[in-house]
Amino acid sequence: MASFLLLAGTGPLSVLAQNAPAASTALLLRPAAVFDGETLHQGWGVLVEGDKIKAAGPAGQLAVPAGARTLELPGLTLLPGLIEGHSHLLLHPYNEASWNDQVLLESQAMRVARATAHARATLEAGFTTARDLGTEGADYADVGLKQAIDHGIIPGPRLLVATRALVATGSYGPKLSVDVDVPQGAQEADGTDGIIRAVREPIGKGADIIKVYADYRWGANEPSRPTFSQEELTLIVQTARSAGRPVVAHASTPEGMRRATLAGVQTIEHGDAGTSEVFKLMKQRGVALCPTVAAGDATSQYRGWRKGQDPEPERIRQKHVSMKAALQSGVDVAVGGDVGVFTHGDNLREAEQLVQDYGLPTLQVLRGLTSTNARIFQLLDRGRVQPGLLADLVAVAGDPTQDIKALRQVRLVVKGGVVIKQ
Ligand SMILES: [Zn+2]
Repeated sequence: MASFLLLAGTGPLSVLAQNAPAASTALLLRPAAVFDGETLHQGWGVLVEGDKIKAAGPAGQLAVPAGARTLELPGLTLLPGLIEGHSHLLLHPYNEASWNDQVLLESQAMRVARATAHARATLEAGFTTARDLGTEGADYADVGLKQAIDHGIIPGPRLLVATRALVATGSYGPKLSVDVDVPQGAQEADGTDGIIRAVREPIGKGADIIKVYADYRWGANEPSRPTFSQEELTLIVQTARSAGRPVVAHASTPEGMRRATLAGVQTIEHGDAGTSEVFKLMKQRGVALCPTVAAGDATSQYRGWRKGQDPEPERIRQKHVSMKAALQSGVDVAVGGDVGVFTHGDNLREAEQLVQDYGLPTLQVLRGLTSTNARIFQLLDRGRVQPGLLADLVAVAGDPTQDIKALRQVRLVVKGGVVIKQ
C-alpha cells in the first residue's frame, strides 16, 4: 500500500516537471553539417521545440520562431543521439573483477551505485539510448535505474531493459562446487509452465525485452552447446510477443543460432561461430546480428593477447571468418559492443573495430549506430534527424562519415530537447 501511494504521489509531479519548460523554448542548432541518420547535409540547421525535432534543413530556410535560442556549432557535425545495441550497466570490466566475483561478492547497492556512474558516462559519450541486455545477478535493478533516469534523478541514456535473462537449468553460472548452490547470473527456467512463468514475471516487473541464452558452455572448459530446445525457444518468443516484447538471444553456435532464428528472435548476440548457412537463414527470417566484436577483443586482451604485436588468438581468428560470412550473407548488423565487459563510456570501441578490424564501411557503421539500430530495435521515434522525432542529438568535431573516430570528439549532447553536455 505504501508503495502504491508513493507512485500515485510522484507520477503527476514528474509529468508537470517534464512539460513545464518544454512549452516556452525553441532551440536552433547551427552546425557545419548534419548527418540525418542516412546521409550528410552541409549547411543544415536543426530546430528543436520541446522534446522533439521541429524542423531540419538548409539553415537559411528554417522558419525560426521569435525568441528561439541559437547554438552556433561551427566545425561540428550534428547527428542523431547514438544507440548502444548491447550494454550491461550493472557490470564493470572483467579485468577489474571477474564476472563470477561481480555476481557473487558485490552487493546490489554497490552495483547500482556503479551503474549510475556508468549511465552518466554512456550519455556523455553521446549514447542517448542503450539496450541493456541483462543485469547478471542484479535482479531487477535495471528497472529502477531506468526509472531514476526517466525521472531526471540521475543522468543517463533512455534504456531498454532485459532484467534477468533466461537460462536453461544447469547451463549458466557461477559454478562453484557441486555441493553449493550459488545465486545465478540469470533466471533458470525449463519446460512449458516454467518458461511461460519466467517470461511473464520480468515483463510484469518492467522488462522491455526478453533475453535468452540459446547456447552456453555447460562446463568450465568446454565449448558452447545449445541449451533450450526448439520448442522452448519458440514458446519464449510466442509468450513475449503476445505481451509486445521482442526476444534477443545470446548464441554463438550454429545450432543455437538456428533454433533462435526459427523461434523468431529479433537479434542474435555474438554469433561467433556462425556459418554462411545460418546467416542466410537469419537474413531470410529478418533476424539481425549484433556481433559484439569489442567484447571478444577485450577478453582476449585480458587473457594476455597484445593486440598488434601477437598473432590473433583462435577466438579472434574465428570471429573474422564468421564476420566475413555474415557480411556476405547480407544479414542486418546491429551495433552493440557488450560494453561492461570493457569500460562504460568507451562504447565507441565496437564501431571503431567494425570499421578498422572487420572492414565495414564507415557509413554503414554510422547508420548502424543511429537509424539502423533504431529500425532493428523498432524504436521508430529516434535514430534520425527528422521532424517529429525525439530531439536526441549529438554534435562532434569533424566528419564522422569520413572518420568514425570523430565520434570520440563529443562537443554537445541533447536528450529530449535538453542540453546535457556542452
Ligand atoms: Zn552481454
